[in-house]
This record gives sequence, structure tokens and C-alpha cells, in this order.
Amino acid sequence: MPCPPFKEWSCKLPELPEVETIRRELEPLIRGKTFAEPTLHMPSTIAYPSPEEFTAGLEGRTVKALARRGKYLFIDLDLGILTVHLRMTGNLLFSETGMPGENRFLRVTLPFIDGTALHYSDMRRFGRLWLTADQQELEQVVLKKVGPDILNDVSLAEFLELLGKRQKAKLKALLLDQNFVAGMGNIYTDECLYRCGLHPERAAGTLDRDKGEELYQAIQDVLADGIKYGGTTFRDYRNASGALGEFQEKLGVYGRKDDLCSCGTPIEKKVVAGRGTYYCPNCQK
Ligand SMILES: [Zn+2]
Repeated sequence: MPCPPFKEWSCKLPELPEVETIRRELEPLIRGKTFAEPTLHMPSTIAYPSPEEFTAGLEGRTVKALARRGKYLFIDLDLGILTVHLRMTGNLLFSETGMPGENRFLRVTLPFIDGTALHYSDMRRFGRLWLTADQQELEQVVLKKVGPDILNDVSLAEFLELLGKRQKAKLKALLLDQNFVAGMGNIYTDECLYRCGLHPERAAGTLDRDKGEELYQAIQDVLADGIKYGGTTFRDYRNASGALGEFQEKLGVYGRKDDLCSCGTPIEKKVVAGRGTYYCPNCQK
């Protein structure tokens, strides 16, 4: 039997560019499709409402569009919004035949009435799904502590204003804080601080306006590059039509301890804000 046609987005610690890549690739595959009755292999994957309400509420709903804020993926329905957060090891798989293939960590199956299906699997079990009635409920239930999307919803002026309110915060901790701005994770934070020559432990309040602007631009550039190259952390696709994320080949510091920076200094690694952080001690002040 030939291998069934799959498209699988398998990432480790997805950040904004990985979720945006999934959004762009998944949307044309499921737009206009209507959900049949879901199967919850692990009901605790459903964060809201109850598993029973989730199942009853999703069946019969049609996909209108896919949206994103930070690392949250939204599937807008004709009635309600299905939200997915992949957390550490969450994995989405679209299957033309409806079958998930060999999948040890299958948590939720979301079939469509045309026989295709979307499968959610998760080795570490931290990822969650929510079904909310409308935008207002989504904001209250899911996004209460999630800041604006750093790529789409924060202007330079707004970024500088937000930065000004967090004078004492270390840049690395601040950019990872999804309450401050949403979307940055460990890899893209290290890369953007490297690009604009800022030390990860530097306090936000020590940046003048020009340096704040440089930081903003570096964030926008590094995220745009991440999306352009299809993300960093995708491990594999099962479909030949899916290209492996290529951004890992473009990384300046992340994962490159002891490699030489272009200035000739070995890249260092230390723990900042609880996360392994890569930087050039010569270029980043
Ligand atoms: Zn350097």
C-alpha cells in the first residue's frame, strides 16, 4: 500500500515563525472544510470548555480562516474559534485519508466530513486546545496574559513605550515574556540581540532611543527571516511537498557555543532568565 498523503508540522519549542509557517501552509488545506465529531484520545488536552462541550461544539462547524497571535494558532469557524498552542512538543498533522499513520502520541483527532482529518499529537503533553464562542471569550479565557503580537500588532512607537515601562528588566527575560510582547522564544531572542549588538543581561532602561529602534528592527528582521526560511525547529515533514525549515542554517549564535563569531571571539553560553543563552561577549554590550 502506498504511503498515505500527510502533511505534518513537527517542531520543538515552536516560536512565532514556526506557528506562522504552520498557519500559512495549513490554511489552504482546511479552509471551507466542516468538522465531524472529534475523538479525544487524551481529554485533558482540551483546556476549555469541558471535553464534552468541546466535542459537541466543534462538530458541524466550518473553517473560515486561520489566524495567529504570538505562538497561539486560531482556527476561525463559522461559529466560534478553535485555538491551538503547541507548547514544547505539540505536533499537527493533516491527513488526506483521515488516518494518522503510526503515531504513539496521538492526543486529539479532528476529522472533517469529507474524510480528511487534522490530528494533534504531543509527546510531552503540554500543548492545549480551546474552543471559545467568540473573540470576547477568546480574550477572556485564553489571551488574558498574552501581549500584542510583536510582528503584526506593535509599532516602533508602541515598542519604545512598552520598553520604557520595564526599565529594570533584562532584555532576554523581557523579550521572552509573552505578557510584554507575544511571539519571541529562546532562539529568535538570542538571534535578534546578537544582530543588534545587545547583551542579553542588559537592562531595558539603559537603551537610548536609537538603540531601542535598532532592537525593534532586529526583532522584525529576524522573525521575517525565520518565516522566509520556513522556521527553525521543524524536525521532519512526512510529505515530500513540505520543505524542511532552513533557518537553523542561518543562525548567528544560537546553538553555536565555542564557534567563532565573525569578530573572531568564541561564542559563549550562559543561563539567563532560566534559559540557555548564546551571545558574543565582544559584539554584544
Ligand atoms: Zn563577535
